[in-house]
Amino acid sequence: MAETTPNSWDARAAASSFYGFTDLPTIEERGTVVLTHGTGPYVVDTEGRQYLDSNSGLWNMVAGFDHPGLTAAAKAQYDRFPGYHAFFGRMSDQTVMLSEKLIEVSPFETGRVFYTNSGSEANDTLVKMLWFLWASEGQPQRRKILTRKNAYHGVTAVSASMTGKPYNSVFGLPLEGFIHLTCPHYWREGQEGESEAQFTQRMAEELEEVIAREGAETIAGFFAEPVMGAGGVIPPSDCYFQAIQPILQRHGIPLISDEVITGFGRTGSVWGCDSYGFKPDAIISSKCLTAGFFPMGAVILGEALSDRMQRAARAIEEFPHGFTASGHPVGCAVALKAIETILEGEGGNPPLIDSVRALIPRFEAGLARLSEHPHIGEWRGRGLMGALEAVADKETKTPFAGHLSVSERIANACTDQGLICRPLGQAIVLCPPFILTEAQMDEMFAKLEAALDGVF
Ligand code: PLP
Repeated sequence: MAETTPNSWDARAAASSFYGFTDLPTIEERGTVVLTHGTGPYVVDTEGRQYLDSNSGLWNMVAGFDHPGLTAAAKAQYDRFPGYHAFFGRMSDQTVMLSEKLIEVSPFETGRVFYTNSGSEANDTLVKMLWFLWASEGQPQRRKILTRKNAYHGVTAVSASMTGKPYNSVFGLPLEGFIHLTCPHYWREGQEGESEAQFTQRMAEELEEVIAREGAETIAGFFAEPVMGAGGVIPPSDCYFQAIQPILQRHGIPLISDEVITGFGRTGSVWGCDSYGFKPDAIISSKCLTAGFFPMGAVILGEALSDRMQRAARAIEEFPHGFTASGHPVGCAVALKAIETILEGEGGNPPLIDSVRALIPRFEAGLARLSEHPHIGEWRGRGLMGALEAVADKETKTPFAGHLSVSERIANACTDQGLICRPLGQAIVLCPPFILTEAQMDEMFAKLEAALDGVF
C-alpha cells in the first residue's frame, strides 16, 4: 500500500471519489495523480511533477491544455450568452452556425445536426432516431443494432449495449437485440494460412449470414468506428468497409460511422471514413469536436436519413428527445473555434491537421522500432493513433497472464517516467495531441522505451 499522508490530495481523492474505469488495486498501491493544470501537451500534478500526455486527455485535447484561441472563444461566448437549449423553436446563433459548419466539413451535401453532451449520448440518440424512423415508416420491428466485438460506443445502457466489451456483463448488458460481429483484427482473428483479403471476405460473409439469420427486416442499423479506439486501436484492412457497405445497402441497413475518436483529423483525414474511402449514412462526433474544451457530442445525419427523420418527426409533430444543454452556445462557439484550429488554421498558425500529416511517418517509425522488442507482438495504427501489443510469446502471440495486466504495469512505469499512456487490454495505446513537436514525439518514445526496459 502507498503511504498516504492524511489530508494529502491523494487521501482526499480516495475518500471522496468513486472511481470509474480505474484499476482499484493499482490506485490503492500507487495513489491518485491529482492534476492542477497543463501546458501544451503536458499536465502537472499537485506535487509539481510534469507528465507528457500521450493520451491527449482522452483522445480529445488535441490542441493542448492551454490553447488561448479556444479559451478566448469560450470566454467571449460566456460574456455574450452563457447558455441555452435548442428546443421549442429556439436555439442560439452559434448553434446554427456550428450546424452549417459541420455539414460543410462532413461528407454530406446536405444534412441536419442534433447535439448532445457526450459521445455516448450521441450514439444513444441515433439508436432512438433509427427506432423512431423505422416505426414511422411502418417497420417497427426493425430494432436490432449490429456492431462489432471489442467496439466501444459509450456507457449509457444503449451505447454500452453497442459496445462489444465483456466487462459490460457486470451490468447485465447488452440489452436484447444488440448483436456483435467479429472484430476485424487480422493479427488476432485471422485463421492459419488466411490472407488479409480472405479474412476481410470472411467478415463480409459473416455479416451476410447474420443478416440472413436475424432477418434484414428486423435490423435498424450497423454502427462502426472506422478505427476501433478503446478496443486497442484496431484499424481494419483498407477494403473492409468496401466489403461490408454494399451488403448493408442491399438490405437497406444504414451504416453509421462512430467518429468520436477519428473525427477531425486523428487519422490524417477530416474523418476516419475519408481515410477508408466510404460515405456513411450518418456520423457520430464528439471529443475533437471541441478539442476537449467543452463536453459536447453531435449526431450528423446525412442527406437521406436527414430527410427521412424530418418527415417522420413532422408526421407526429415532434421528435420527443433532447438534453437541457443540447446545442449549448458556449460549446458551439468552442466547437467552431476548434474546427477552425484543426482544419483551417487559427491565430496565424497552420491547420493542426497539417501537423498530424507531417507527424505520421515519425509516429509510425517510432512504433515500428519499439515493436522489435521481444515482448511486443504487434504495432498497429492509423494516423496519430497507435498501439503496441504486449505478448508473453511473440511466436505464438500468447498473452501475459495475471491480474495486473502487463500493459497496466507498463503504463505505471511510464507514469514514473513522466509519461501518461493508456493500457488497453494487453496493449499500450498512444494518441498524442496534434500540437506535439518532433522533439516531444521523440521524448514520448524514449520514455516509453525506458518503461518497457524497466518492466521486462
Ligand atoms: N464512441 C467512441 C468511438 C468513443 O471512443 C467514445 C469514448 O471514448 C464514445 C463513443 C463515448 O463518448 P463519451 O465518453 O463522450 O460518452
